[in-house]
Amino acid sequence: MGGVNKKTALVTGANKGIGFAIARGLGTIGFRVAVGARDSARREEAVARLRDEGIDAFGVALDVTSGESVTVAAKTIEKTAGGLDVLVNNAGIAGRFDGGAQNPSTLDLDVMRTVLDTNVFGVVRVTNAVLPLLRRAESPRIVNISSTMGSLTLQTGPVLAAYAPSKSMLNSITAQYARELAGTNVIVNAVCPGYVATDFTGFNAPRTPEQGAAVAIRLATLPDDGPRGGFFDDGGPVPW
Ligand code: NAP
Repeated sequence: MGGVNKKTALVTGANKGIGFAIARGLGTIGFRVAVGARDSARREEAVARLRDEGIDAFGVALDVTSGESVTVAAKTIEKTAGGLDVLVNNAGIAGRFDGGAQNPSTLDLDVMRTVLDTNVFGVVRVTNAVLPLLRRAESPRIVNISSTMGSLTLQTGPVLAAYAPSKSMLNSITAQYARELAGTNVIVNAVCPGYVATDFTGFNAPRTPEQGAAVAIRLATLPDDGPRGGFFDDGGPVPW
């Protein structure tokens, strides 16, 4: 397990879906993978599945809505792996939309708060907790899992007035981080995995988690002169 020069990647929400596929993909190309997940049973099961495939994985208790959990997670990573090279902010929720809860005209602000707390504030919490570790790495990368539903140009998918704006804000936050970190070696981008069969979509979507993970893995392993502060899918740049 783990040579001294092995790179470490943290994937949030890595116990299933696209996050698990990203963890597996990064593990397969040689990363030590920190499997961030809030439920201990689901987390340990995912870690065991990855280890069964020969991947160097360890579990990190991580609820992105809890500042305390995020702080402890950063310490666990430093203690276990000694540092961090890649952060993939994947954990995300759609939020409930029954009874018009995500129609703009009847928007349930509690749903909106919940969605923003995970999809946006969660990304800020985790990023800021591990940024000191990333800054010490040689070629640190941050990949935020967004969606074309958050693209104000494309406006894809159904009307979901908490989820779609959460991804628009995530895109904007991504650009803000990229601007602040422009003079550093930390490269930050957002990606859209496409429409992927996971719990999130009721497994009723054309792409596999592995297909969805591919663009995140590509951006997580960019060369040092790679793009910064962009929004990408499999086809290349996505309009904001
Ligand atoms: P998924 O199968 O529902 O997985 C979501 C993951 O996020 C789960 O591991 C979940 O953990 C975790 N999570 C949710 N809230 C969390 C919290 N507070 N703390 C820690 N982990 C939390 O969904 P998915 O399709 O893989 O989605 C992954 C990402 O891709 C999301 O950001 C989503 O918005 C984005 N996305 C998905 C699609 C698509 O078509 N599927 C399209 C565009 C973008 P639990 O198991 O504990 O709930």
